[in-house]
Amino acid sequence: MIHLLDRYLSTLFFAPLARRRHHEGGAVIPILMYHSISSEPETETHPYFWLNTTPEIFAAQLKFLQDNNYQVLTLGRAAEIIYGRAVKDDHAKYAVITFDDGFRDFYINAFPILQKYGFTATVFLPTDYINNHHKKLDGKDHLSWGEITLLHKQGISFGSHTASHPQLRDSNRADVRHEIEHSRQIIEQRIGAPAESFSYPFAFPEEDNDFTKCLTDTLIAGGYKFGVSTRIGRASAKDPICFMKRLPINSRDDLAFFQAKLEGGYDWMHWFQLKSKIIRAKFKSS
Ligand SMILES: [Zn+2]
Repeated sequence: MIHLLDRYLSTLFFAPLARRRHHEGGAVIPILMYHSISSEPETETHPYFWLNTTPEIFAAQLKFLQDNNYQVLTLGRAAEIIYGRAVKDDHAKYAVITFDDGFRDFYINAFPILQKYGFTATVFLPTDYINNHHKKLDGKDHLSWGEITLLHKQGISFGSHTASHPQLRDSNRADVRHEIEHSRQIIEQRIGAPAESFSYPFAFPEEDNDFTKCLTDTLIAGGYKFGVSTRIGRASAKDPICFMKRLPINSRDDLAFFQAKLEGGYDWMHWFQLKSKIIRAKFKSS
């Protein structure tokens, strides 16, 4: 029952509330965060941490976007609209589709469904795991550079998810710089196009101002223009351009929950996310 509490509150209470509220100026865009499109069983018990969206549920979610006239933007285009560098169409509904970890099932399962609906997506690669059969995240296969080049030619964007997928806050400055710069360079070499976006691995330590400032400087100096994090909610100009919020999506997202998330019904979860990070940080330091 407690597992379903966020679903009930989002669909029945917060989504209707968000629908009634008028937008305060700038664009607010849902950026969806997927990991794996597969029917594999989950290893995590709490549905919030599930990695898998089955191909059937993913297809139903994309159909929902199409049926409801969502324009699926590249992350770069969305960032321009959110931060006021491009004009937003007040009548348009926008969404962005992203994938973390560069799993191979993106090529096998997700891409054909994206193609069917004519939608683009951004995939964030942990570059040390690409073309390396000895390294796997969550026991899953990763994309190869051959597949990545092919996907890029078909309109899929690629960004960095670091090189080795470390907890960056626990790394020293030189390692952080390497993770950020090396991963971008290798993607650019392989796809022959700029890789300007970054996705922070693991929980983003937003309560740590010194760290986030330092990381922002490193990202900008390293050639990045925008990025996303695991902070929950729809993206808006209230948030730093390097760490835009996203909406975690998996097989638990039936269409009512999916719609609630798109319409702002899940944005309230960020308050809980931030409070729990602050409490955990206090525990650590005391
Ligand atoms: Zn990751």
